Amino acid sequence: MLWILDIEAFQIRDRFYPLEICLLNTEKETCNLFFVKYRKTFESRSIRLQFGRHGIDWHDGDISIFSAIKAIKKRIKADDKICVKGEQKLKYLQKLFDFTNEQIFEIKNAPALSELVESNDESCYLHFQMHKTWWCARRRCFAILKYLKRLEHDTAQW
Ligand SMILES: [Zn+2]
Repeated sequence: MLWILDIEAFQIRDRFYPLEICLLNTEKETCNLFFVKYRKTFESRSIRLQFGRHGIDWHDGDISIFSAIKAIKKRIKADDKICVKGEQKLKYLQKLFDFTNEQIFEIKNAPALSELVESNDESCYLHFQMHKTWWCARRRCFAILKYLKRLEHDTAQW
């Protein structure tokens, strides 16, 4: 089984706080979507700035990061693969979920995500009103899926 994983995270000082996590099942084309909540609060200006940028609020979440990680790891079987777009994200997610090098990999040679998301509107319920945005983990996962399917289709044509 192949999964696509993406997150939308706040960066506060030098730390990332994933707020939206999307794990997409490429066969069923269904996703597991998590909105993370944190007990910690920050000085409101930095939160407001991040909200303005990401379109998701610090308080939108309903699950702890630990429960979200646990729930995602539970769905991944030992011989499943998880693909991610972007080298930095790959490193971050590998560490966050403690995936092995065999489990998680980066999609290379694909067009930029900003280009891929143009062709779909599979945003989550928090982001669906933000027209033309790509700050949505769910939307990016579906954009990657669409790209992979196109690749598969093109290869089959040969
Ligand atoms: Zn979203």
